[in-house]
Amino acid sequence: MDYDVLIIGGGVGGLTLASKLARCGIKHLVVEKEVKGGLIYKGELLQPKSLQILDGVDVLTELEAHSYQLDKIHTYEVELRKGSSPKTLYHSRLNYDWLPTKYNHARMAPHEKIRDLLLNKAKEYSAFDYWKPASFVRMKQADSKEQIAIIKKDGREIEVKAKVIVGAEGRISPIRKEMDSTLHSMQYNHHFLTVTFPRPPTLTEATIMATRTHFVGLFPLPDNQVRSVYMIEPGRYKEMRKAGLDPVFQAYYDFMPEMEGYVDQIKKWKDIQLMIPIRHNTSHYTEKGMAILGDAAHSVHPMAGEGMNMAIQDADVLGELLCWMFTNNRTEYENLLWYERVRKPRSEFVSSLSHQSALVYSFPYKPWQRIRMKALRHLEHHPRLHFKHLLNISGMGMWKMNVLDWARHIGFPPGESFRYKLEEERMIDHFFKREEDYPWEKI
Ligand SMILES: Cc1cc2nc3c(=O)[nH]c(=O)nc-3n(C[C@H](O)[C@H](O)[C@H](O)COP(=O)(O)OP(=O)(O)OC[C@H]3O[C@@H](n4cnc5c(N)ncnc54)[C@H](O)[C@@H]3O)c2cc1C
Repeated sequence: MDYDVLIIGGGVGGLTLASKLARCGIKHLVVEKEVKGGLIYKGELLQPKSLQILDGVDVLTELEAHSYQLDKIHTYEVELRKGSSPKTLYHSRLNYDWLPTKYNHARMAPHEKIRDLLLNKAKEYSAFDYWKPASFVRMKQADSKEQIAIIKKDGREIEVKAKVIVGAEGRISPIRKEMDSTLHSMQYNHHFLTVTFPRPPTLTEATIMATRTHFVGLFPLPDNQVRSVYMIEPGRYKEMRKAGLDPVFQAYYDFMPEMEGYVDQIKKWKDIQLMIPIRHNTSHYTEKGMAILGDAAHSVHPMAGEGMNMAIQDADVLGELLCWMFTNNRTEYENLLWYERVRKPRSEFVSSLSHQSALVYSFPYKPWQRIRMKALRHLEHHPRLHFKHLLNISGMGMWKMNVLDWARHIGFPPGESFRYKLEEERMIDHFFKREEDYPWEKI
């Protein structure tokens, strides 16, 4: 079996790459071990850059019909009161429509739907081959000339040769091990419960609600559903399961009384998934003819909704590079390093951004909530802070905070947010340009 590219893992990252390679006629095989997807919850929030990439592989129009558009994210700092609606202490909005691009919103789509659309798109091309179920076992050979992988399919071990092997197999990545890429990982002082249930008609926009000690995120999905994440202390999951579903329902009613009649449609604890956030980064993304992308290369705290988006963005850059390498006969392995040069700094930046967002909700102290409210107010009302944050989470560009920006978060210099002007050209200037996304095209 000979291919140009072998992709291990048919998740969103692997399939985005496949749909890009398929379009430029690169002979490739995707190997996916799971017969059935969708058993565990995975990301559903698509950021603007991902929408642009999905448009580029021609799946966005269909995706629009199966997803829910988010123009804003509302954050409420509240105080819970027994038997009545929570008292809003502060309400802030993050407006995606500030982005001067047609991709000026996010979308919520069921993870399996995104995978299916990408898979069906890749299947339209003869350059695409797909083995499922089949799993990567080990490398037989990995050097600068040729890669030979052992794949298990139908109970047999098969040798698959490829010029390039891509590990898109998620957090536990055997290809990463083959590459000897060092993993740095950390965990957090909280876990999440996540579940989808029908949403009340009033819940039409992404809504985050936080008290000093609790956090709930509600993200509308199509078909009148909502994805929710509820923060809990580590170790509480088992004891909560023993207590039955009623306390869970009550926790949602406390935040939003109109949840009555909706959240209680959850029938069993099995529908609720425990999510343990992990952050990991790896020392390198490429080695000889191997590369890793998505969760194999980095895993981020879900607070900023970036994990799946980073996988899509990796696949975009790697896909463009492989197309260029194969169509221009530039398959020297050193060229794979372009992928790492573009994506590693960006991923590390988004990883630290997600980490900071997690810290914002990690300390259950009153003064901390006050600081958070202050920071939220300035983030919303200072045009520079609002745009920077939006740009950074959208994936459309990268504009790091400087010391003065941190001061702006707590209101210094006073009154500047009213005077500060941010012209559209200045905003666009911070968007990634083609030569930054795909710098090898210039050589
Ligand atoms: C519980 C949970 C909650 C999350 N919440 C969010 C969120 O809210 N927002 C967000 O953006 N992201 C979220 N993420 C992260 C997001 O799901 C991942 O970042 C994204 O799915 C990564 O895509 P991927 O293609 O790299 O990996 P995956 O989606 O993990 O796909 C890897 C694929 O490889 C296959 N595979 C694994 N090993 C082998 C093998 N040896 N041979 C063949 N195939 C193999 C797997 O079956 C799988 O299909 C969450 C992840 C988890 C686990």
